[in-house]
Amino acid sequence: MSYLVLARKWRPKTFSEVVGQQHVLKALINGLDQDRLHHAFLFSGTRGVGKTTLARIFAKSLNCEQGVSSKPCGECQSCQEVDAGRFVDLIEVDAASRTKVDDTRELLDNVQYAPSRGRYKVYLIDEVHMLSTSSFNALLKTLEEPPSHVKFLFATTDPQKLPVTILSRCLQFNLRRLDITQISDHLVKILGKESVEFEHAALIEIARAADGSMRDALSLLDQAISFGAGSITNEQVNQMLGTISQQQVHLLMSALINNDGQNLLQQAQEISAQGRDFKLVLNELLASLQRIASIQLVPDLEHTDEKNFEQFQQLAQQCSPELIQLFYQITLHGKRDLPYASDPQSGFEMVLLRMLSFQPMKIDSDMTDDTPPAPSVTNKTISPNVSQTHYAKTKPIEPVIHHVAESPPPVNDATTEKVTTSNDDKDINSANWLNIIGQLKLTAFTRQLGDNSAFIKFENNQITLAIADGLAHLASDKAQERLTSELSRYLAQDIKLTIQQESQASTATLANERAEQKRSSQQQAVDSIHNDPIVAAIKQTFDARIIESTIKPLN
Ligand SMILES: [Zn+2]
Repeated sequence: MSYLVLARKWRPKTFSEVVGQQHVLKALINGLDQDRLHHAFLFSGTRGVGKTTLARIFAKSLNCEQGVSSKPCGECQSCQEVDAGRFVDLIEVDAASRTKVDDTRELLDNVQYAPSRGRYKVYLIDEVHMLSTSSFNALLKTLEEPPSHVKFLFATTDPQKLPVTILSRCLQFNLRRLDITQISDHLVKILGKESVEFEHAALIEIARAADGSMRDALSLLDQAISFGAGSITNEQVNQMLGTISQQQVHLLMSALINNDGQNLLQQAQEISAQGRDFKLVLNELLASLQRIASIQLVPDLEHTDEKNFEQFQQLAQQCSPELIQLFYQITLHGKRDLPYASDPQSGFEMVLLRMLSFQPMKIDSDMTDDTPPAPSVTNKTISPNVSQTHYAKTKPIEPVIHHVAESPPPVNDATTEKVTTSNDDKDINSANWLNIIGQLKLTAFTRQLGDNSAFIKFENNQITLAIADGLAHLASDKAQERLTSELSRYLAQDIKLTIQQESQASTATLANERAEQKRSSQQQAVDSIHNDPIVAAIKQTFDARIIESTIKPLN
């Protein structure tokens, strides 16, 4: 006896056996049971989601010798002929191969004749959008005045190409792609009936590869059964599909997140040795990253039913959502660029290395305000549990990069030492003025005066300062009085204060120095971003540009 492929052997024979498409079933079943059937249905949807199957059950329901109902007997001659695919009043046409108007005319000429065996003639016209314009016109005439013994089922993968006149005369249904659970659950049932042993993870892989189509899933299942000589294991299915197991995906993700380059390349080597398809491996990575991102960003959603949830949750906790988003983009671009790589393995490795190079830069906790931070993005210190972590954040189009730029040391070290540690020999001069004024405890208003005053001289208990004409209003009596008192306290002697107005603004003020420092550290940050090789890589990879106004020196 010849082997009957699973897709044919297990083709649903009743509406109740159909997987998914409940919205379509409901309309058909209600129509049949209440005898209120539309004469033309349009099913849109991808291949292998059950269009022919529905048409056959529909034809049986209409022509069963027991009467019209949504539950045909399956025993009578009509039912059996439909099931066997040789019922004369079910006319299946592939419009892709019969687009000419003559073909359609020939088909429609016969519409007028009563059915040969049953009550109704059922026309299933697949890929109906492929008909020519004149064919559509011929069809339209029939649809306008359909004989009562005719039902049309049109199927198309591209409903947009159908003329509105046709669309408006059909009851339209979108056949949905089946999800992974719907497919794998169905495979479980079939394998149970076939008495084939299997690993559940293997069926998930098959369901994923089938991409919404039950027919594809069943033919993959056929292959898997013969590949595994009667039983189905995850390893065999991965080998057959060229995919990698969830366990391997998890190992890859762990190595990435733990920044373990050696481990990563070793795994790429193994994947290559196993003859896997790197494009499919990238797909697996994308699916995993998507799951991690949803665990990170929508934690309230019930994820615990998902397979390997705990593993994914662990990964989700080990890195930031931004990093996962970045990895996703890199993987997506890597998949696009894979055909351009010198060979698939090197293309795949570059994707992994690129992700590694974007690992977060971490700043050691001992870098305090006194110490300028690490001078460059590339200078990363990878150590767990550090207090601060900065990520190079990018968006695909316009990356906003928060950059760590070195700030110049705020003071001359020797002077600072003197000011902060020595209480003897207090003096104020042009060299230490900016430091001293910066250290005095001043109220906001007096601070304005101090910060904008330049030092002129200190002689005979008399300190002379200068302030620019435009800022003379800062030198109010009260502010002068407070500054005098604070300087006296600092010097441990009573001093007198004179503030001269200068038409030409002096540059030797704390306010000017700070502005200059700010400008200089901003410039350094901007230069550093422009000269950074990783930023250059981001620009190239994502076709990105730098928005300078978003660059901020940290610290
Ligand atoms: Zn029957």
